[in-house]
Amino acid sequence: MKKNSILSSLPVLIAFVFVGVFAWLIASTFFGTKAGDPQPEPEALEEELETIEEEIEEIEENKSVGPVYAPMTNVASSNCTIKYGNLMLINPNFHVEQDYITNRRAELISLSYNYGIAEGNPNNGDNLMDSVAALHMNEMANAYKTAYPGHTLETRSCYRVRGTTCGRLCLPTGQTDHHTGLTCDLIDPAYGTSLDTSLYNQHVEWQWLKANSYKYGFIDRFPLAWAGGSMSEPMNVNADGSTGLYETWHYRYVGVEAATEIATGKYNNGQYDSLEHYLKATGLVTDLVNATCKTD
Ligand SMILES: [Zn+2]
Repeated sequence: MKKNSILSSLPVLIAFVFVGVFAWLIASTFFGTKAGDPQPEPEALEEELETIEEEIEEIEENKSVGPVYAPMTNVASSNCTIKYGNLMLINPNFHVEQDYITNRRAELISLSYNYGIAEGNPNNGDNLMDSVAALHMNEMANAYKTAYPGHTLETRSCYRVRGTTCGRLCLPTGQTDHHTGLTCDLIDPAYGTSLDTSLYNQHVEWQWLKANSYKYGFIDRFPLAWAGGSMSEPMNVNADGSTGLYETWHYRYVGVEAATEIATGKYNNGQYDSLEHYLKATGLVTDLVNATCKTD
């Protein structure tokens, strides 16, 4: 009987041993590692690490989003036009140096603060302008509003302390008209904030701007007729005054007298002139490619 009772309890004992071994295995997996053993990473921690890695990747990718500031290149102090005030010329042939750009900024005033002309789409510039140009910009903006109730002129990019690399419309530091403090890219928020040549050209308000801006001293800086037929190239100023650029939104202050002569084509058979060609025609610039000015 005794032997029988031991035999009958054997399966229970075996079961106890199995359960014990299994429990020890489980416990040693989670808690029982000896010092020096590599720590197994719980799944939650692994997932967290993956998330962090993904976030880092995303941040790295986003670094290339937005304006990429271009380094200054080829900065021979070749610009003889900066003494021409409102008629100064800055382009890939007529460079200015960083000191000039920085000092110029200090001479400018805020369009938003002084005249309530908003920066409609803060981009890669400051909403700053030469004080006389700003005064005229305000008059032009008011005239635009009066002519077309419900419409307003806002800026997208005026003065730039640095150039940009963003494709064919952007220029390296030292070479862009946006260093002059006399220029703004303009938008009408009724038509959105993007700069779109074909879009703006369709609108009667923008046609008004092109036709009337000279009365306020502003010119359409890069008209189609002076784009030189090839707009797939970056700005490329040729001896004849063509620029390779066509930008309906880029308005430049040159003063009422010069703007009138440019818009009415005094030196261009009655057709809209380019600033480059105008400066050559008036004799202020003698060589558009090699950047030389009238000697006096
Ligand atoms: Zn522009």
